[in-house]
Amino acid sequence: MYSHTKKVGSPGRYGARLSRKIRENVKTIEDQKRKQSSCQSCGKKTVKRKACGIWTCKSCGAEYTGGAHTPSTKTK
Ligand SMILES: [Zn+2]
Repeated sequence: MYSHTKKVGSPGRYGARLSRKIRENVKTIEDQKRKQSSCQSCGKKTVKRKACGIWTCKSCGAEYTGGAHTPSTKTK
C-alpha cells in the first residue's frame, strides 16, 4: 500500500503543524514504542505498552513498570 508518510515516517500525520525538531522527537519515541522488547521474566519479544509506564507480556502475562514510551529507561 502506498503510504503518504513514507519519507518522514509516523509523525508525517502531523504535516506542517509541528516543527521539524518536534516531529523528529515523536519519530524516535514512536519507533521505540513499535519495537518490541524482550520480557523480563520469559525473555520473549512480546512486550507491549499497556498504559503510560505499564508494560505487559503477551506470552506469559507478566506486567511490569517501565518508562512512559520505552519498557526500560536508561539512568546515567
Ligand atoms: Zn513474558
